[in-house]
Amino acid sequence: MAIIGGGMAGLALAAELAELDGRLAERSGGTRPPLSITLLERENQLGYHSTGRSISAFCESLGGPHQRALTRASRTILDAMGAESGTPLLHTRPMVWVADEEHLDPLNDLLTANPSLRAVDLAAAQTLCPPLRPSAVARAAVERTAQDIDVDGLLERYRHRATAAGAVLRTAIGLESGTWDPAGSAWRLTTDRGELQAARVVNAAGPWADAVATRLGVAPAGLKSLRRTVAIASAPGIGPAWPLVMDVGERFYFRPQRGGLLVSPADETPSPPTDAVPAAQDVSLALDRAASATTLEFQRVRTSWAGLRTFTADRDPIVGPDPRQDGLSWFAGLGGTGIQTAPALARLAAAQLLDEPYNVPGLNPQAFLPR
Ligand SMILES: Cc1cc2nc3c(=O)[nH]c(=O)nc-3n(C[C@H](O)[C@H](O)[C@H](O)COP(=O)(O)OP(=O)(O)OC[C@H]3O[C@@H](n4cnc5c(N)ncnc54)[C@H](O)[C@@H]3O)c2cc1C
Repeated sequence: MAIIGGGMAGLALAAELAELDGRLAERSGGTRPPLSITLLERENQLGYHSTGRSISAFCESLGGPHQRALTRASRTILDAMGAESGTPLLHTRPMVWVADEEHLDPLNDLLTANPSLRAVDLAAAQTLCPPLRPSAVARAAVERTAQDIDVDGLLERYRHRATAAGAVLRTAIGLESGTWDPAGSAWRLTTDRGELQAARVVNAAGPWADAVATRLGVAPAGLKSLRRTVAIASAPGIGPAWPLVMDVGERFYFRPQRGGLLVSPADETPSPPTDAVPAAQDVSLALDRAASATTLEFQRVRTSWAGLRTFTADRDPIVGPDPRQDGLSWFAGLGGTGIQTAPALARLAAAQLLDEPYNVPGLNPQAFLPR
């Protein structure tokens, strides 16, 4: 089995798949040979693209009902992984949704959809984040159990689990093309480092998943990548324990980071798959919007970056076997919640690939199947 892509999706899947396969091989008493699992990542390091650009947030109220179900299930997995290694992967940082007078309806919709949210007024929101301006907050909603995720720590845990369970993780090797041999039920894969064979390819190439499908001679799934910009700016008086503050109108979010304030204009600029870089006007927009929502006086931008969030048309991930092509499965379209949902989604995908049960309460995995 070849997994294409070494971001959070591919790496979490490699770990879950190799471990589940090991358990099944052991259970068979030696009658079922273990799978050979190889992950191919084109960059020199794992997690370089979307995964390396996230803001490390874990919030149940982000995304739709499927994302919420996956996030809840992922929390249990992340807590167990942290307990097992003795180093927690989640650290509490509340999240505050703010709505101005014009966005009270979407705030009410959020409150209705999310039992984890509690409605609060401006004064309560200012207790958590003192510089919030009254003009930006007619009403707010707090998710007290939101967390920061240690993304590097999680990648490292998955890397360790995958290799300990026998998966081979290769970097600096890009898939160029592939031909399916129906007689041998196998792919002949051409990479920039030579040829490989695999009985199944799992497409976990993030923003490049459609390009990878095309390289395998399969029609794309219609994924869209949207660029998002983040900057860290300095300003006097930033409190390290302030929450993640997100505008219900999707015009900004911010939260403290490394002594500065991480700010984003919550931009969604369509982009081809690429090594995304921030545009100067998006960085300025982030600062302007954060400045008008708070009384903070920004001094300088310390750093900025951009990354791609890749979505299907319905914004649910695409996970499962391709009905049009033998030997091809998808694990892509993780959108804007691919770090916080990857633990449960990878467990689901691994179970599906090995024909084993895995149930996420509140989730119908049929909804993710490629069509
Ligand atoms: C600014 C920003 C903030 C975000 N914040 C959060 C957050 O707080 N919480 C959250 O849960 N999510 C967040 N996300 C979303 C999250 O980062 C993504 O959903 C997730 O990283 C997607 O992971 P992936 O493995 O699918 O993609 P990627 O990390 O992009 O991995 C795909 C990999 O495939 C490789 N690849 C492509 N083509 C080939 C090929 N031909 N051969 C070999 N390898 C190939 C690429 O090099 C790449 O490394 C954020 C995203 C952005 C951009």
